[in-house]
Amino acid sequence: MSEKKEHKIVSASTGAQVSKKAAAASSQVAKKPAAPVGNATPLRIGAILLWLLAIGFEVLAVLVTFGKIDLKFMPTLWQMIAFLVLDLICLIIGSQLWKKANHIKPASEKNKAKFWLWNNMGLIVTVLAFVPFIILLLTNKNADKKMKVVGTVAAVIMLLIGGLASYDWNPVSKEQLDNYEKNITGNVYWTNSLGGKKFHLFEDCQSLNQTEELVIGSVAEAVAANRSGLCAFCARRDNRNVETGAYLDGSVETVVEAAETELETPEQETEQQETEQQEAPETEQQEAPEGETAEEEPAA
Ligand SMILES: [Zn+2]
Repeated sequence: MSEKKEHKIVSASTGAQVSKKAAAASSQVAKKPAAPVGNATPLRIGAILLWLLAIGFEVLAVLVTFGKIDLKFMPTLWQMIAFLVLDLICLIIGSQLWKKANHIKPASEKNKAKFWLWNNMGLIVTVLAFVPFIILLLTNKNADKKMKVVGTVAAVIMLLIGGLASYDWNPVSKEQLDNYEKNITGNVYWTNSLGGKKFHLFEDCQSLNQTEELVIGSVAEAVAANRSGLCAFCARRDNRNVETGAYLDGSVETVVEAAETELETPEQETEQQETEQQEAPETEQQEAPEGETAEEEPAA
């Protein structure tokens, strides 16, 4: 193992750098419910519009291929490729918006059909965006042979790229997000790396040793950033269920309270002072004579 790296910690909501100490405090102490991480509805509308645009470009690719339209300024073959590329670009951007929306407002697992559909919409649209073109090209006997070969190969490659980019490899359900948000009230950490899928409870988690920059934020922010699962190392270290984030021994409240008492020493001191003040009259009455004698003793 190479040397452990020092982390630069950045806030997910503000983008500002956070000190290690402040981060540690906010990760273990319960805080007020986080502000919503975004609105899923505009993202879904954007996704649908882009997907419709992608299908539109597919139709244009078909029309160009079969000589129904001709833009003149470049060869037909290139027109076909250009429309397929535009088709792919709109498809991929639309799918990213859809996935983001799914991570902000996930579908409930209780409605199995909707849950499946919501998580596979990107894949379904990918098929719609390229397969009709491929079928039409392959079944048309009059199509130019070169157009047929190049068009089919290009569309199949784009179908694969589009499918890989549109599929949600890290799906999350409403129940999963609700559980995590209920059980993990403090801030969590995650990496900026492209393949990252987990969020962490501890800044010094062993799986973060090689990471330079960490993001800190609420669980909802982590899930919205595509970090949908609790790290198994962190879960074991904190004695939590990796699927729900719940403590394996005892209720959430008791353990959070324990963490608060440990961390928030100023509050603890005020509480002690208050207790002393409340108890003061009784103590004075009972201990006053003793106190007097004790004070007099050295003098005598
Ligand atoms: Zn971890």
